[in-house]
Amino acid sequence: MKVERLTPIEYTDLILPQGYSVSEESLWLFTEEENSFRSEVRALFGKEIVPMTQQFEKNNVFPRKALQLIAKKGYLRYPFPKKWGGLNEGNGVTKDFIISEELASISPVTSTARVATMLCGIPICRFGSDYQKEKFLKPLLLGEKIGAIVITEPNAGSDTARMQTIAIREEKHFILNGEKRFITNGGEAEVNSTFAITDRSVHPHKGMSCFVVEKDMEGFEIVEHYDLLGMRGARNGYLRFRNMKVPAENLVGMENLGFRVLLDELDIERTVIAGEAIGHARRAYEIALEYSLLRVQFHQPISEFEAVSFKIAEMHTKIEAARLLALKAARLVDADRSASMEAAEAKMFATNMSVEVCNEALQILGGIGYTTKFPVEQYYRDARMMKIAGGTTEIQTYLIARELIRDAKKKRKEWNQTEPF
Ligand SMILES: Cc1cc2nc3c(=O)[nH]c(=O)nc-3n(C[C@H](O)[C@H](O)[C@H](O)COP(=O)(O)OP(=O)(O)OC[C@H]3O[C@@H](n4cnc5c(N)ncnc54)[C@H](O)[C@@H]3O)c2cc1C
Repeated sequence: MKVERLTPIEYTDLILPQGYSVSEESLWLFTEEENSFRSEVRALFGKEIVPMTQQFEKNNVFPRKALQLIAKKGYLRYPFPKKWGGLNEGNGVTKDFIISEELASISPVTSTARVATMLCGIPICRFGSDYQKEKFLKPLLLGEKIGAIVITEPNAGSDTARMQTIAIREEKHFILNGEKRFITNGGEAEVNSTFAITDRSVHPHKGMSCFVVEKDMEGFEIVEHYDLLGMRGARNGYLRFRNMKVPAENLVGMENLGFRVLLDELDIERTVIAGEAIGHARRAYEIALEYSLLRVQFHQPISEFEAVSFKIAEMHTKIEAARLLALKAARLVDADRSASMEAAEAKMFATNMSVEVCNEALQILGGIGYTTKFPVEQYYRDARMMKIAGGTTEIQTYLIARELIRDAKKKRKEWNQTEPF
């Protein structure tokens, strides 16, 4: 007669080496060098970041130390050119996507703080002056300063054109007034790539500018930090700027061309968020798979029930599909090609997938999944953010549809002018 376990399964009973579920075949389309990079990143995060994660989750500690450590190892530098302290060798976004997946699988909150810092650097790198790159970008990439990307406002979420924050030029500086909310790292970040209207007489797309706002400038106010559903340890800030004197030398790119600056970072942002979503899903999936092998009901491991094993099959397939979509977007961005649709597809699919997979993982754990004994409930909460930040699922879907329909109409027009076939 079989002896069945009487004590409940503990999280520590699971054997879950980092990257437990990622096979060589899963990574077939990455280069050998990228795969050894992934192994290096995974090993470092496993050794250095894993021991810190309880502080973030249980004590709401902001992961500044983790970020500094990551930056010291160079893991904020890949999308940036060598001239400005970066490490891009043609596949910088692909590498950043790898970092995102690996870090998010271990510490979602550290990952989101890292991505916000990296994104803060993108406008400065692509449009900023040499002075700005020296003063702001280099310290960001070295982990000496933390960054934030500051766009959303109480009345301007998906519709960024409704932005009301205003910057009025006065000789050698701008006077900045306005409010921004939901800002990742908001209030912690010393460097804030901030968008504001500089010409109210035209459409915001033609009257927006980007500035580096420093936390220690007079008039910078942290109104509150939001209490979030997930991402414990994150600082998500509501900021107010009151008559802030921002030096003209902090204007990033040309005055009134800020909307271009804003659009420019989105492909990287969406690709990298897709990476994070894959990391969240992957960890929840791994825990559920391992648990299903140990948990016995009706005298057999629950993995033997078709209802459970089919969930596992679908979860894995979706994770793999998301990684392929995101890799395609990353490769396009690295090749300096337009990837607005592909990055939107990657983000839409990966973030939907991630919430679904975390939800199914929780279901596989049954009642214990709904407790904090296993971190699946945490990944479920953390993953949920990604369907909102960086442009909602609905906005990604709209963008994809717009591109497809525009393209189909164009083709139709061209075909109408040629012989029918
Ligand atoms: C945890 C977190 C971190 C964030 N970090 C940052 C950050 O670092 N920097 C920053 O600037 N912002 C950040 N954001 C803000 C985020 O980008 C916005 O929340 C998001 O763009 C949506 O804006 P909103 O919240 O105002 O929602 P709204 O725009 O008001 O949307 C509400 C609902 O309406 C839907 N909707 C709106 N317009 C359309 C449309 N045209 N078609 C179909 N549906 C539509 C949306 O999809 C959504 O479901 C963060 C948000 C969160 C939650």
